[in-house]
Amino acid sequence: MNASELLALDRAHLWHPCTQMSDHEFLPMLPIARAEGAYLFDANGKRYLDAISSWWTCLLGHRHPRLVAAIKAQLDALDHVIFAGCTHAPAAKLAAELTRLTGFDRVFFADVGSAAVEVALKMSFHYWHNQGRSDKQRFVCLAGSYHGETLGALAVTDVALYRKTYGPILLEPIIAPSPDAYLAPPDIDARTWALLQADQLEILLQAQHQSICALIVEPLVQCAGGMRMYHPAYLSRARDLCTRFNVHLIADEIAVGFGRTGTLFACEQASIRADFLLLGKGLTGGTLPLAAVLMSNEIYQAFYAPYASLKAFLHSHSFTGNPLACAAALATIQTLEAEQTLQHNQQRIAALRQALTRFAGHPRIGDVRQTGMIAALELVRSSASREPFDWRERRGLQVYQHALSHGALLRPLGNVVYFMPPYCLDPAETEAMVEIAARSIDAALRD
Ligand code: PMP
Repeated sequence: MNASELLALDRAHLWHPCTQMSDHEFLPMLPIARAEGAYLFDANGKRYLDAISSWWTCLLGHRHPRLVAAIKAQLDALDHVIFAGCTHAPAAKLAAELTRLTGFDRVFFADVGSAAVEVALKMSFHYWHNQGRSDKQRFVCLAGSYHGETLGALAVTDVALYRKTYGPILLEPIIAPSPDAYLAPPDIDARTWALLQADQLEILLQAQHQSICALIVEPLVQCAGGMRMYHPAYLSRARDLCTRFNVHLIADEIAVGFGRTGTLFACEQASIRADFLLLGKGLTGGTLPLAAVLMSNEIYQAFYAPYASLKAFLHSHSFTGNPLACAAALATIQTLEAEQTLQHNQQRIAALRQALTRFAGHPRIGDVRQTGMIAALELVRSSASREPFDWRERRGLQVYQHALSHGALLRPLGNVVYFMPPYCLDPAETEAMVEIAARSIDAALRD
């Protein structure tokens, strides 16, 4: 199928996610035909550097040979099987690997990130219910948080763009102030700011802990809310407070797990273990949908009882524990270890930091921030006032369009241009990616 046939078919029948479809009256849809490493190729053979790892999933680059081989081999043996009453080696081995890597005891599989969030919220509530604490019914999330867009996950998401319309049909969360370092007054450093916000969390938990099941956080980086970064001291305090007030801590590492922040998991930087750890996206190296909820035996035991007690956790998805996805996840973990990817990422992180120095003193960039393999630039009217551009100006969209013409796929979040590249870029490619972003920003901000 050539590009114009594909686009005609798309226009006739498709509805794309996170998209005002009418935008595509002026914005050509990219007809992607294949992918290799850090690059996507359209049907005309034009190459685009995938600077956002296709929604933060393709950690190792596209079509990594080890992952391709693992999925093909698995397909020759077992494609899919109901995961209630049946088990299989890829799922059991993956669960063992995930517990080895994290120190948790048990793994409950879901298929996508939002489903993992739903599982964790339900499991936390159900745990307290099984313990005779049915008064615990509420969830705390952070301002600016994003945990997905199914109704439960959206309820603990605080990004107005996604949430506002559905507000009337959502659970009412308790929203704690964000430790986002960009919000800190100039004379307060990130750590002090994080601890001040943790003081607010303490006040909130002190007053309401009897009714609270869990606090859910995105460790170190609030991604979809605008790559908002914060000091690990917040996580340490949040862990202590949750323990003290008998509230679960849910660490949603769906976006930041598997090396994104520089360590295998972001929580390691605060030396904490949450009560639930959520993984998705990069878990399969971005090849197939799979998500996981990890927890301790203590939580598991609260559900383990004779059937008639009605304590079982009956949540199910048709594709839970899909063998192809589990095989891909096992291959991802093996590859990260065999290729020492995280060690090599230290050079990539340094190259990204070096490339970003070009934005120092830029009159229209209010903040340049980086946590590991995530970097973000805050586009503003003037760096002195940090006044944001009106969202109606759609500056980010203009950056996106210019970057495409220069051969890079960026997908700014409003006024935030960010990089979340696959772990296969060399320093020259990193420099090229940032150079394209710089040219695109300058073009988009030329009034
Ligand atoms: N949690 C976080 C932190 C996320 O970034 C996302 C997706 N952007 C989700 C949950 C939802 O994952 P999915 O899109 O796979 O449902």
